[in-house]
Amino acid sequence: MDPAPQDPQKQATGSPWSFRIATIEGIPIRLHITFLLFLTYIAFVGQNRGGLIWPLFVIAVFACVLLHELGHALAAKKYDVHTRDITLYPIGGIAMLEGRPTAKQELVIAIAGPLVNVVIAVALGVGLYFSKGTISISSELKEATFLPTLFMANVTLALFNLIPAFPMDGGRVLRSILALNMPEVKATQIAAFVGQSLAIVLFVYALFSGQVVLALVAFFVFLGAGQELAGSVTRSLLEGHKASDAMQSRFRTIESGATMEMAAEMLLAGSQYHFPVTVGDEIVGTLSRTGIAQGLSQGGPSAYVAGYMQRGIKTTDPDVPLERIAEAVTDKEDPSPVLVMEEGRLIGIITQDNLSEFIMLENARRSSGRPASA
Ligand SMILES: [Zn+2]
Repeated sequence: MDPAPQDPQKQATGSPWSFRIATIEGIPIRLHITFLLFLTYIAFVGQNRGGLIWPLFVIAVFACVLLHELGHALAAKKYDVHTRDITLYPIGGIAMLEGRPTAKQELVIAIAGPLVNVVIAVALGVGLYFSKGTISISSELKEATFLPTLFMANVTLALFNLIPAFPMDGGRVLRSILALNMPEVKATQIAAFVGQSLAIVLFVYALFSGQVVLALVAFFVFLGAGQELAGSVTRSLLEGHKASDAMQSRFRTIESGATMEMAAEMLLAGSQYHFPVTVGDEIVGTLSRTGIAQGLSQGGPSAYVAGYMQRGIKTTDPDVPLERIAEAVTDKEDPSPVLVMEEGRLIGIITQDNLSEFIMLENARRSSGRPASA
């Protein structure tokens, strides 16, 4: 369901390799298939080392990871930033937020996750202190060391996530603190630089100490910082613009009863790669360049458009901020264009190519020092 009727309307989301296990506060909680494989592996290995205690421990840790992600999601909800879903992977959880919080909001949202682990650790720590007087940490996991080890896991989760490098929460905390006093792009540049420098130090250390997993983590941290920076630059270029600024306003539509031969002719005649498909006045789907090629090869030139179009459309109002459109257009699972509707009439289409062109031109305008048209 859409959080707001103005948003580009999207269909069901989530990776096809994950499935929903619960819904909390309207947020779908998903489990990635690799997580189940991981759990099975732990159960299998754990058979010789204390039976069920290892799988139970993994489940307990991931319950804490889920609470961490819910911390982010509920903090975001306070600011009307919607969480599309929370997915649990063997390496941790990811809460997919929709929309863009301000610097101050991002600070609260980013810190809310690790704070949950601090709260759990304090609760466990206090409980253990008063029940035994000591917190004994042992490398061997058994009933007596279960809770102390869970305590340590939460301390580790809080500290690890506060490392000031993207994609960890600490990277966001650093960026949002910087962004309170400077433009977002500049803040992201500095935060990305700090993150990548840390990643290089970590990578060199991992190499010399022979820790392969740590080297991989460092590598992904390095990539994560670069992605965050690219995303931030793009966002800043889209800022202040609306759907109608980037839409293709001269376009052609095709009838669902038309043939592939006609679609192929239309494709060659212009530079349009996506065609809204109509039945009378109604738009029922879109036909892409790939769809036309597929239709020609599988169904032949006389096959109907209806059989090879993408059913279901993403629509938007012309005034919706371009940043939101970008999210819908660059959706990996549904790369179909966003259709711009005004009073029930199709007035434009926005494809990934449109958006790339818009970003390229906006970048050129800004580097020339002239103010961008709004
Ligand atoms: Zn987090």
